[in-house]
Formats: sequence, C-alpha cells, structure tokens
Amino acid sequence: MRIFDPHIHMTSRTTDDYEAMYAAGVRAVVEPAFWLGQPRTSPASFLDYFDALLGWEPFRAAQYGIAHHCALALNPKEANDPRCTPVLDELPRYLVKDSVVAVGEIGYDAMTPAEDTALAAQLQLAAEHGLPALVHTPHRDKLAGLHRTLDVVRESALPVERTLLDHLNETTVAAAVDSGCWLGFSVYPDTKMDTDRMVAVLRTFGTERILVNSAADWGRSDPLKTREVAGAMLAAGFTDDDVDRVLWRNPVAFYGLGGRLQLDVPVPDALHEGNSVLRGGE
Ligand SMILES: [Zn+2]
Repeated sequence: MRIFDPHIHMTSRTTDDYEAMYAAGVRAVVEPAFWLGQPRTSPASFLDYFDALLGWEPFRAAQYGIAHHCALALNPKEANDPRCTPVLDELPRYLVKDSVVAVGEIGYDAMTPAEDTALAAQLQLAAEHGLPALVHTPHRDKLAGLHRTLDVVRESALPVERTLLDHLNETTVAAAVDSGCWLGFSVYPDTKMDTDRMVAVLRTFGTERILVNSAADWGRSDPLKTREVAGAMLAAGFTDDDVDRVLWRNPVAFYGLGGRLQLDVPVPDALHEGNSVLRGGE
C-alpha cells in the first residue's frame, strides 16, 4: 500500500513519526504553511519558516524515505495581524521554488474582512504562478464558511478544478461536491471526522476528487490516520484500487497540477529492501 498524506505539519512531529509513517506505507507528504501557536511578530519569522519547509524538512523526510513538498501562504488566522500581512509581498519569490506545489493553507478562520483580502490575494497568486490552492474551511459555522469560501473562489482567477477545499465534513460535503472543487477530509483522533464517518462519506459520495489527510500538527492528532482510513476502507469492502485512488492517485493528481511533484526519493540504506529508488512507493 502506498500513501500520500496531502496535509500534515511535520515541523511539529518527531522522527519517530517519520519512521512509523514509512512503516505504514506513507511515501509522500505535503506540508502546508500554518499557524505555529505562538504568534509571529514580523514577516521575517515567516521567511525562516518557509525556508525550513523548503530545505530542512524535505531533508529530514528523505532520511525516512518520504518525499516532502510544501504549500506556502499566509495562514487564515494570522491574516488578521498587521504585523504578519506584509509577508504577502514576499510570497511571490517563494512560490517559484521547485518543491512548492500549492498555495496554502489559505481560507477563513473567523471570516473577517482582513481574511477576505488575504484569501482573494492568495488565490490570485496561485493563478499567476500556475499552482493549485489548498483552502482550509473554518471549523466554526462550517456551512456558512464554505459558501463564503466558494463565493471568493468563484470570483477569483483560479479555476475550481485547481482548488482543494479542506476540513470538510458531513455538513459541507454535498455543497463542496457540487462546486467542482477537490475535496479534503482531515481525520483526527477525537474531533472533526473520524475513520468510520470518513468511510461513510466515501460510500455516499464515491472516491473521485476526494483526499484524506491526518492534518497532524502540534495539537492532538495522529499521523497514521491515513493508514487507518485505508484499513477501514478495505474492511468496508472497498478494493485496493479504491484505496490507492483516494490515498495516492488523487493527491498525486491534485498536487501534480502545478507540474512540480517529484516523487522519486532514494531509499535510505536503513530502509533498503532491494530496490534503489522508491517509485511512488510500490
Ligand atoms: Zn493544517
């Protein structure tokens, strides 16, 4: 089984997590830029973080046989902080880097006017750079948040088929399916979607354009939730091909839209099992 976690914050995770993820079949991840918990006080703080997502974290992931790409953005929460918003002027020179496969995560947190501005500006940046966008939907007031998000996406220059709506659940999935966007579901240990609810959504809505992620970060979360969903899908009667579509081919197709995805990571000696290069994690 090969797994691509399309939304995980490895900066907040340990090397034990990388080892366990590799053992579970995870061969690729996308790490979107996010809020670190401690507020940033200047754009320079973002730039060091972006550099870590472009340099250090892919290096660390490669030690464990995992291909690491990132999505860069000003996150929804810090879009409200005038000390942070000048980073929007720095983003263009980062969005041209090879391992940046999307703009994200962007979207709404508290649905403020400042968030409107940052979301629209960054959808425009995605369109200008030929990149797709990872758009987080708010955790509170979810359906209203989804509709407001879709209004901004539809007004933007970025086509819906280059937009991934993330953190969906049963209240937002139908509207998201109708929008033509890609659909992301974050499976957590005890809030939001869980494994059984995820399988039920897949039963109802099928496997097309659906991505499942762990969104693991510094909060209570589990980087192996993708593997757990794969197991639950098989137990529920989905085929190996269905699992491969949701947990590998769909994220490859979405993040491949920018033409920069590079999935060949040499297998480190410690993980060697006879083949010198992992090609998509067979
Ligand atoms: Zn996230």
